[in-house]
Amino acid sequence: MKKIFLAIITLAICVSVLKSQTIKSPDEFLGYELGSQFTYHYRAVEYFKYVSEASPLAKYVEYGKTNEGRTLGVCFISSEENLSSLEDLRKNNLIKTGLLIGESSGKQVPFIWLGYNVHGNEAVGMETAMKTLYTLVSGSYPGVNEWLKSCVIIIDPCQNPDGRDLYTNRYRSSQNIIVNPNMDAWEHNQEWPGARSNHYLFDLNRDWAWQTQTETQQRLAFYNRYMPQVHADFHEMGAESTFFFAPAADPWHEVVTPWQHEFHKLMGKGNAGLFDEKFKLYFSKENFDLFYPSFGDTWPLFNGAMGFTYEQGGGGASGLAYSRESGDTLTLKDRIDGHYTASLATIKVSYENRDKLISEFNKYFEDGEKQPSFKYKSIIIKGSNEKSNLEDMLKLLDRNQIRYSYSGSIGRKSKAFDYSSDKDGEVTIEKGDILISAFQPQSRFVQVLFEPDSKATDSLSYDITAWALPYVYNLKAFALTDKINPIEGKVEFEKIINVTITEKPYAYIVNYNGFNEFQFIAGLHKKNIRLRNSLKPFSINGKSYNRGSLIITRGENKHLEGKFDQLITEVANDNQVKLEAVTTGMVDSGKELGSGNSPVMKKPAVAVLCGDATSSNSVGELWYYFERELRYPVTLINTGLADPVDFRKYDVLILASGNYKKLKDTIFDYVRSGGRVIAFENSISIFSTDKTTALFKAIETRNTELKSSEKKEKSTDSTLLKKFEDQRRYNLSERSAGSIYKVKLDVSNPYAFGLGNEWFILKQSAGYPFLPTGNNIGYILEKEPVSGFAGYKYKDKIKNTMVIGSEKIGSGEIIYITDDPYFRAFWKSGRVLLGNTIFR
Ligand SMILES: [Zn+2]
Repeated sequence: MKKIFLAIITLAICVSVLKSQTIKSPDEFLGYELGSQFTYHYRAVEYFKYVSEASPLAKYVEYGKTNEGRTLGVCFISSEENLSSLEDLRKNNLIKTGLLIGESSGKQVPFIWLGYNVHGNEAVGMETAMKTLYTLVSGSYPGVNEWLKSCVIIIDPCQNPDGRDLYTNRYRSSQNIIVNPNMDAWEHNQEWPGARSNHYLFDLNRDWAWQTQTETQQRLAFYNRYMPQVHADFHEMGAESTFFFAPAADPWHEVVTPWQHEFHKLMGKGNAGLFDEKFKLYFSKENFDLFYPSFGDTWPLFNGAMGFTYEQGGGGASGLAYSRESGDTLTLKDRIDGHYTASLATIKVSYENRDKLISEFNKYFEDGEKQPSFKYKSIIIKGSNEKSNLEDMLKLLDRNQIRYSYSGSIGRKSKAFDYSSDKDGEVTIEKGDILISAFQPQSRFVQVLFEPDSKATDSLSYDITAWALPYVYNLKAFALTDKINPIEGKVEFEKIINVTITEKPYAYIVNYNGFNEFQFIAGLHKKNIRLRNSLKPFSINGKSYNRGSLIITRGENKHLEGKFDQLITEVANDNQVKLEAVTTGMVDSGKELGSGNSPVMKKPAVAVLCGDATSSNSVGELWYYFERELRYPVTLINTGLADPVDFRKYDVLILASGNYKKLKDTIFDYVRSGGRVIAFENSISIFSTDKTTALFKAIETRNTELKSSEKKEKSTDSTLLKKFEDQRRYNLSERSAGSIYKVKLDVSNPYAFGLGNEWFILKQSAGYPFLPTGNNIGYILEKEPVSGFAGYKYKDKIKNTMVIGSEKIGSGEIIYITDDPYFRAFWKSGRVLLGNTIFR
């Protein structure tokens, strides 16, 4: 019996050895040498699936689909024993974080996650992933077998398949067959919008915390099932640069632990060792910092892992070969070797420090639960906040595994930091208020997202410097230094179910509260149901309604015949708005329902300009807003192909951030003849430089005033004596590094309905003066931001500036929005501003 058993084992080992020996390399499988071509995404997926079939050391798992239907998946690579108990290892790991409740069966090994090609045109990533996979399953690098016994390696070969294939398709169709490193060539210059982003033109490496995009949502739901100890994210930078690895540059966010700091240094040394052996150039501690929480290094760091960014010199423009200024040629093969070396260094260093990686990882979460580092121990979000913003914020917390509950201690009055006034005040806890306690596994991430002012080791950051969630969602919220206990049980919102009424009401009214009402409006328009909106508050049947409330009358919808009530009920239920039926058009107070103060809302035809003149990220946000948030049709018109377009067909023309000089006449004609333009960020420049606009006059007046007040000769200004090496820092004094400013609003203006008396915007642009004619709808009255970094010179200039304004030109109108109110689609409180400008 024993002999037979042994024989079976021997046979099994032979089969597995034989299998690994016969596994095809990427070159053999693809039919060309890696680095001689850019591989199509589906071929790389086929290779991963093939290896997963052929090797007992690999297991490929699909975790989702992209917007364009491509496969998202990862491959687990480890010893047979580990792979056969993967589910146990996964659970044990999660139990140690406290994010999963249960009994651990004991064994815990580090999960090391290598994520490639999050930026589609940084196309070396996916090629490298295949090479790394083959090395691991074929054991063709010293120490690999030991690594696999003690670690589970997870490879995501391509985090952004849509972008990656766009790059590959364009490159392959424009490339010379004879490799051409000349940068003038078409193949090195891909047209708008480039292939860095996903289908909706989002930068997926800015989306980790916010998870607005389907690729991120699916990837992180999967990531959260494992909670790796190490996450490395592979990028490319300019082709003249060498290679970047850890330690990261300043600023580091203050929640990064001493061990995470130390491990960054260890990883740097480990990489340097392997790079030195190959005489490769590199740098560390420059350019790439650890502050903004939504990158592929910071987000894992704030989730207890070791997060790393790697940057290979190269990128989309470098193609198969690039002629460097030094005279050297950088090939795709060189770039593969860079990321391949870093991939192996990542695994090697993690393996060598595996015990401490595990113990410190466990401690990270244990400390969070028992002794949070956050000054504030409880965040109270008022239950009375606007529902769609509140619900969306809770969804964000769910996606980031942050726990919340209803607050206990109802009736208690506490000293607290009040986010909206940006100073200490008091809060009385009421029934329905939501508590986010700092005592939880994700304590440090709670700190990152709720700290009123994030603290960095330096103000020179690669990205924005403020994102505290109460500002993002415009929620009334308080931070308390006291520990407040929760009420057990799930936070749940009542589902709205309207029932069709049989007696025929005169009209239905929907109180205007926030974004759900815009989804409702969009839904009504799609069904050609006519509606009005009230410009003034009113009350009827003893109920009060806000400005902007919606009125749908039977008298104006005769074309719907018997379906009127049923259709409205359906649209209301789909969009979770509450209908109130009334039997008269006469109000208790305010203007009657049929008054001119409740104008009809026309179903607008909307166009967004895209193409060369525009910022692709800004266009993408609007595109996404219409399709995925509002669910309302929009037409994207390419500026390069706009000549034959009759713009009069469109009621609203949206200019995302961009430079529209070439279309200036067309746009002005459109406005003069009655169109409405919504101009964002620097698209405003075509209006601010045109003598016929009120904005131009305002800027001219301001400049004259400035000149007369600037008596002192500028040449004696001692700040001009700046040092060469301080140039970047000096420039910073003149700008806002994505800081948050309070915007005061004219609540009577329909474009401001639903935003409250004040609202918060992520400020990046310089300030525009108040308009002398037209409307100043939203403006900044203070020099200090409520959160984040703004330079001292910037602050002086930003006080008393316009953020939202409008003016008439001819029979049309321009609405100016100087900054992005819906930044990266996570600034959800801006959605109602967009809705107002489109529909009202
Ligand atoms: Zn990148």
